[in-house]
Amino acid sequence: MSDVAIGVDLGGTNVKTAVVTSEGEVLGKDARPTDAKQGLDPVLDTMQQGVEAALNQAGVALSDVVAAGFGAPGPMNWQTGVVFSPPNLPGWKNVPLAELMRGRLGVPCFVDNDANVACYGEFWLGAGQDVNSMVLLTLGTGVGGGIVVMGKLLRGPDGTAAEIGHMCVRRNGRQCNCGAKGCLEAYASVTGMVRTALRGIEGGHKTVLTEMCEDDLSRLTGKMISDAVEKGDGFAAWVMQETGVWLGTGIGSLINLLNPERIVLAGGMIAAGDVLFKPVRETARHNPSTYPANAPRLWRRVSARTRV
Ligand SMILES: [Zn+2]
Repeated sequence: MSDVAIGVDLGGTNVKTAVVTSEGEVLGKDARPTDAKQGLDPVLDTMQQGVEAALNQAGVALSDVVAAGFGAPGPMNWQTGVVFSPPNLPGWKNVPLAELMRGRLGVPCFVDNDANVACYGEFWLGAGQDVNSMVLLTLGTGVGGGIVVMGKLLRGPDGTAAEIGHMCVRRNGRQCNCGAKGCLEAYASVTGMVRTALRGIEGGHKTVLTEMCEDDLSRLTGKMISDAVEKGDGFAAWVMQETGVWLGTGIGSLINLLNPERIVLAGGMIAAGDVLFKPVRETARHNPSTYPANAPRLWRRVSARTRV
């Protein structure tokens, strides 16, 4: 029988667990709300319960598990398994996650950046399984990144490589949560898209968005922008287009820098579909500065594999 391991995706909203074989076969799964507001210990309890439920479903005993891997929001030290202070996990500060979960589960535990493990997972068994080099961007509240070069995850000596969201796309641009200005994340994430919309509305653009958030612009969400596009709102379509151009600008630089065989887009924002991806494709591929003759295929990772 092949070795069995546990994989846990610790997100700010949900904890997703899978029991997998060394060939990548999923034997059992579980998903439950993180309830991150409760603080550290209840989240650790939730992860433990998720592991137990997934093992139960798989019919596998904890004693037969070789290791457990956790994908967690950064920043962190993957070598020591310490998670520093992720913005969407309140109360977490320098948490020795690998050590704490080892104490609870009794099996070797490893922690890595969620975008890195998503990238490696897609490289191993998903959208990148037929290539040697790929880039994955997770588009949500922020922009996460993972890079595989020549079959290996690019980590850098401190493990902080592939912070694609914090690549500067505009000198003295928008303030980013990381402290720097002009990061890709400040334009091309859901939060960045909302900021683009707010600037336009404050500048006097007329849009159904003001009505949709009942004149309280602090309630504006990415979903509202996407819904407004479907309602035929020209301003919302412009916001989406603008966001796509920023994303395509970043991706064009990644193509020049890494010459990847594939770029995979994942995360909640990809639900927006072609209205977002058309400008991404056009900017990334047809920008005069995009150097490689054979631009990589772009993949949009929804539930099934979809080529953009
Ligand atoms: Zn930044």
